[in-house]
Amino acid sequence: MPKKPIQKLRNIGIIAHIDAGKTTTTERFLYYSGESYRIGEVHDGQAIMDFRDDEKERGITISSAATTFYWNDCQINLIDTPGHVDFTAEVERSLRVLDGAIVIFDGVEGVEPQSETVWHQADKYQVPRICYINKMDRIGAHFYATMQEIHDKLGGGAIAIQIPAGQGDTFFGIIDLLDMKLYTYDRESLGKNFGSGPIPGDLKGKALEYRKILLEATADLSDAIAEKYLDGKNIERNEIIEPLRAGTISRKLTPVLCGAALKNIGVQKVLDAVCDFLPSPIDIPIIKGEDPENKKEKVRKPLVDEPFSALLFKIVATSAAELAYLRVYSGHARVGDWVYNPRKRQKERIRRILQMHADKGVQVESMEAGDIVATTSLKWSVTGDTLTDENNRIIYEPIHFPDTVVSVSIEPKTSADKDKLAEILKKLEKEDPTFKQKIDPDTGQLIISGMGELHIDVLKNRMLREFNLDAYFGKPRVSYKETAAGSAEGIGEFSKVIGGQNVFGKVTLGLEYHRGDTKVDVVSRIREVEVPSIYIPDMLDTVANSAEGGGIYGYPVIHIRVTLLEGRFNDPVTATITLNAAANLAFRDALKKAGSRVLEPYMKLEVRTPEEFLGPICKNLNSKRALIEDTKIVKKIAIVKGVVPLSEMFGYSTIVRSISQGRASFNMEPLDYRPVPDNLVQLFHQKI
Ligand code: GDP
Ligand code: MG
Repeated sequence: MPKKPIQKLRNIGIIAHIDAGKTTTTERFLYYSGESYRIGEVHDGQAIMDFRDDEKERGITISSAATTFYWNDCQINLIDTPGHVDFTAEVERSLRVLDGAIVIFDGVEGVEPQSETVWHQADKYQVPRICYINKMDRIGAHFYATMQEIHDKLGGGAIAIQIPAGQGDTFFGIIDLLDMKLYTYDRESLGKNFGSGPIPGDLKGKALEYRKILLEATADLSDAIAEKYLDGKNIERNEIIEPLRAGTISRKLTPVLCGAALKNIGVQKVLDAVCDFLPSPIDIPIIKGEDPENKKEKVRKPLVDEPFSALLFKIVATSAAELAYLRVYSGHARVGDWVYNPRKRQKERIRRILQMHADKGVQVESMEAGDIVATTSLKWSVTGDTLTDENNRIIYEPIHFPDTVVSVSIEPKTSADKDKLAEILKKLEKEDPTFKQKIDPDTGQLIISGMGELHIDVLKNRMLREFNLDAYFGKPRVSYKETAAGSAEGIGEFSKVIGGQNVFGKVTLGLEYHRGDTKVDVVSRIREVEVPSIYIPDMLDTVANSAEGGGIYGYPVIHIRVTLLEGRFNDPVTATITLNAAANLAFRDALKKAGSRVLEPYMKLEVRTPEEFLGPICKNLNSKRALIEDTKIVKKIAIVKGVVPLSEMFGYSTIVRSISQGRASFNMEPLDYRPVPDNLVQLFHQKI
């Protein structure tokens, strides 16, 4: 397929609560676009996008992080976003590189907790989106109630551009409000063939009502439409598209569509809407980054003749190859070119460029502004790194990942396994930025940590199965932190005899509890005459690293502010060493005087249960130190919202199932860190 001009590129993702129908819809995208020859169904374990070991004749078999297909005159790069909360970091990194998103809702369940989370993430990254209310064929599906819920819970100017013809078991087609026609889909051809006709009489009223809302919203954005609308003139489909597109891209409104992916109804219209309403890379005209040397803001335009720049957003390691996925923001690069990684201060050679189609990679010669491609065999670069033209450097803000909240110990069975483990850890760490490893200084045990019980479980299974490791795993534990209990001033003095001369440094600093944007806020008020400013950045880093390395109980210290107050040294040659060592000692001294409180991770929790189990569910939650903040009952389903310490929630999925005879479900996501209650603190031992 020849390359499409950049205006015709769409880098998009699908975001949704688990089970809303992301995979089912994607399978249809690939089928209708001609990218695949069959529809793989999730329930048969046959979905193409979910397939790992189906070896294709050419290309590489992987679990794809991005796939390319063509629709109308557009090239669509679909970036994968996993549904489970343990993998919110994955969603973050996808949102960082995509230009627009489809948000899928289940027409029965409406706005589920995970849909709310991802919606707010998309807000954070200012991603324009369209909504697709799926499963309109399910008994209980309700388009208008879901619309209302999107409006109430999410805001964002949801505007229906379709309404369903029938709902639940009477659902049979789509009424398109752009051209006021009914669309029905042929079963035999799995929806590939479809036809249009007039709107049935009994649905005309509803269609006119919603067309009016649509036109009024569009008229607000376009004087031409406003004039025609007021004059009562007919307004054509293509006249509405332009203002709606502008409104979507500026995030003033969000077009809403509906259908039933599993019944092959309405899916093509979602693709039409992607092309019509979601932005191309040049609709975001300026991309902001920094000059790696002086940290001043630097910008790039999404044009081929700008200097090359790209963000590495995901690495997938398999036994065959290691693929690094790039979003190219500006310029172009060809196979054989050298590019530069400013964070690692290293050059990288582009050996191969692959356009990913579902599970196979097709080699191409070059990549340019707007593209999403994979490359292989990068030596230095990891997820979040920028690759740039060496002579015209820019660095993009790395993707921020939340702290890990659960850890587990690993004990390899044999010494061969120990060697193997080292290799595996290296691979996993490169691939997954939310996976961390460290050696417990007390026990010498290897500890790995991740985003939740499921994340740890997935990692464990990969080590055991994919990499054939033989090892014992401990019980999962939460990752603790600590913070200052009060405020204090600390003094650190360091002296040493070097080359027959006594060198020394002395630092005084203040420490206090502080909840800012960063975990640890370190600033300096030392006067230039005492310590020249060239030494200050290193001292700040030393304190930040010391806090990260562990406080009184050995856990990373967060939520503090440290202010360097005074400094002295006697020898410029060793000043860096003596001042840094003194800063470290001063920090330890201050922390000891201020005292420390152990913090544990708290989760935001939502449980949905049939009314009759509400009592037992709440009783159980109360025994887990949960704070229930809200309970309400909607149509015999109770929704309980609250916060709970993660340490109490291991194995909760089994518990909630047994309390509710398998009928309740829950959703949990990291919220913040809060102090461990006094009666439990005794379990922790002071280390300094
Ligand atoms: P994902 O978790 O968002 O990827 O959701 P899946 O695509 O795996 O779908 C979850 C379940 O819902 C599967 O059993 C699908 O067959 C089913 N499903 C998906 N779309 C529809 C639909 O339009 N109607 C009905 N009735 N079921 C659907
Ligand atoms: Mg899925």
